[in-house]
Amino acid sequence: MKVVNSIKELRSHINTWKRRGHEIGLVPTMGYLHEGHKSLINAASDDNSKVVVSIFVNPIQFGANEDLDSYPRDIERDSKICEAAGADLIFNPSPEEMYGENFSTYIDVEGLTEELCGAKRPGHFRGVCTVVSKLFNIVNPTRAYFGEKDAQQLAVIKRMVADLNFDIEIIGCPIVREEDGLAKSSRNTYLSEEERKASLVLNRSLLKAKSALKEGIKDSDKLVQIISQELNKEPLAKIDYIEIVDSTSLKPVKNIDRPVLVAIAIYIGKTRLIDNFIFQ
Ligand code: AMP
Repeated sequence: MKVVNSIKELRSHINTWKRRGHEIGLVPTMGYLHEGHKSLINAASDDNSKVVVSIFVNPIQFGANEDLDSYPRDIERDSKICEAAGADLIFNPSPEEMYGENFSTYIDVEGLTEELCGAKRPGHFRGVCTVVSKLFNIVNPTRAYFGEKDAQQLAVIKRMVADLNFDIEIIGCPIVREEDGLAKSSRNTYLSEEERKASLVLNRSLLKAKSALKEGIKDSDKLVQIISQELNKEPLAKIDYIEIVDSTSLKPVKNIDRPVLVAIAIYIGKTRLIDNFIFQ
């Protein structure tokens, strides 16, 4: 598995591939890969003849009190996972390579970033959109793959691609879960044994919400109440947000009469976990 650190070297591989007529799939990640990332790489290698996985813990998408320094990193382990999943190349730049001296240009997507994680993590999506645009310009992929676990991120990236005329197809991939229902995340490694057990409340509360919707509940306040009651049963869980939003505009919905995204963020100890589902 080739691991490339420089933009110049990456571009030379990409140019050779493009000259030979390859379609390129890009999977942007922050590394410490798991089955969720693997499903994106698998999808990319099904659709494209070359697959680039970017591994970059992007400093500008972390808030001042967030886990930038402690974010898990293991490029050797990641290389093996990428190779097994069918990737051709890992792009693993340093922060200096991505953000040279006097870096001053950022991408802000309005509207879609105002609710959910955007409201709780100011500047987060500005950092995400800036780094993803840079990756799009550097890799020039045919398609790029993002997980539905980060539902707001997926919606924001699709908006940005349409608004800025990137000629790239954005593919959303389903959430991959542990056997007990917890959505896979690199941050799950922060959880102690006790916290890991407590984290199951997240998926459990979403399943309760799904049943309530299937039974015909229409009032989103009531739904939020059902979810918060379940979350509050777990003493280690602290609610960051529970939101019922229109699945396209991501604006809050009062009466559930259209497809909605039910999205939750909680803290288990110091670890922030997110999960969601779309109800059609
Ligand atoms: P990250 O490394 O956490 O920034 O994630 C990189 C990509 O993998 C993003 O598009 C995520 O949405 C996606 N991803 C992370 N966890 C999962 C999961 N459990 N299932 C599906 N996709 C995921």
